[in-house]
Amino acid sequence: MKGVKKLIGPFRQVIPMTGLPLKGAIPDTELAVISEAGILIEDNKIHSIKKFSQLLEDFKQTDTEVILLEGDHVCLPGLVDAHTHICFGGSRANDYALRNSGKTYLEIAKAGGGIWDTVTQTRKATKDKLAKHTVKLAKRHFKNGTTTLEVKSGYGLSVDEELKMLYAIKEANEILPIDLIPTCLAAHMLPKDYPGSVEDYLTEIGTVIFPKLREEGLAHRIDAFIEESAFSAKQIAPYFKRAKDMGFDVTVHADQFSTGGSEVAIQFDALSADHLEASTQKEIELLAKSKVIATALPGASLGLGCNFAPARKILDAGGALAIASDHNPGSAPMGDLLTQAAILGAFEKLSNAEVLAGITFRASAALNLSDRGQLAKGYLADLAVFHTNNYAEILYNQGNLKPCMVWKNGELIFDRHKG
Ligand SMILES: [Zn+2]
Repeated sequence: MKGVKKLIGPFRQVIPMTGLPLKGAIPDTELAVISEAGILIEDNKIHSIKKFSQLLEDFKQTDTEVILLEGDHVCLPGLVDAHTHICFGGSRANDYALRNSGKTYLEIAKAGGGIWDTVTQTRKATKDKLAKHTVKLAKRHFKNGTTTLEVKSGYGLSVDEELKMLYAIKEANEILPIDLIPTCLAAHMLPKDYPGSVEDYLTEIGTVIFPKLREEGLAHRIDAFIEESAFSAKQIAPYFKRAKDMGFDVTVHADQFSTGGSEVAIQFDALSADHLEASTQKEIELLAKSKVIATALPGASLGLGCNFAPARKILDAGGALAIASDHNPGSAPMGDLLTQAAILGAFEKLSNAEVLAGITFRASAALNLSDRGQLAKGYLADLAVFHTNNYAEILYNQGNLKPCMVWKNGELIFDRHKG
């Protein structure tokens, strides 16, 4: 049935994240706040947001369902996490303990740990098992307010195993009420059991996997890890050229430990350059001048115990900053976007508006999605609702104030009162 209307409210505040720039610094004084507001939803989209009492009056003669909220509530757009690796097998809890006990990357790899352990466990898992595990982790994300979640492949590292991961992500997406946005990261690293050269590997996955992604609707995004331990800018160039020629969006794991990746991102009009912990003023300025979204991954800094991406400098240079969790078994096991974004804000001195922009509309721009990340007429009715009377409490609580309700496409998908 079309045209089903729901009115939710009153909210002490709705923070619509509208009227803000895609790039550059944003003082909190620019943040729109609609007080004592109601949100009228029609089907899966927002119809209007204004004073609750006004909406109640306007729609009382219609068959609009009214969902009355008692107590204090603040509404944000459903959060967008533009970078995760939550499809995997096994656990790296032992690696984490070894790393924190001072063992080196090489010592951990020798003890059977490291990324190759995740590759081995992921290859051993069936597609259904991977899908189930992805669903389990994604549930944690949407209970924390995330309604759009990017998920990468990249632990299969062969044609068949990468495709298995992407089918598992597709299966998980069909089960979950939120949107999973799949990305092919077959260019995560050269698998150590590959019999040919780096160039052979990239050519094989490009020629065999890319057409399959199209045919089966498995992903429209291609990611690559540009790093001394993974692939060089020169090696990735023909791979990205093929991806772009076939109409894929590209994104890059860039400047995590050494620079070079963000320049490739700019060269190939990537949607985003993610990580950037090693970016210098030169990369910051080039990114700021480009259309590439700079995505900070504070979860990886927290997991590895290293510095954050220069978020303040990126914004001050005029860049677009998104913030994502990078949830993965090795370097970012926490997977709590709101907590990590709040912590990044404290360390990098970001305004509330800048942090919230980074996990809403700037993050949806990094995924090339223009129908979410803001609350306004025609946008998806994706809502994260918090028990408070002041939006500033959300980041002030550093992730410990969880949403009490989460709505996706106009449906209540999580209610903390009910668990
Ligand atoms: Zn990553």
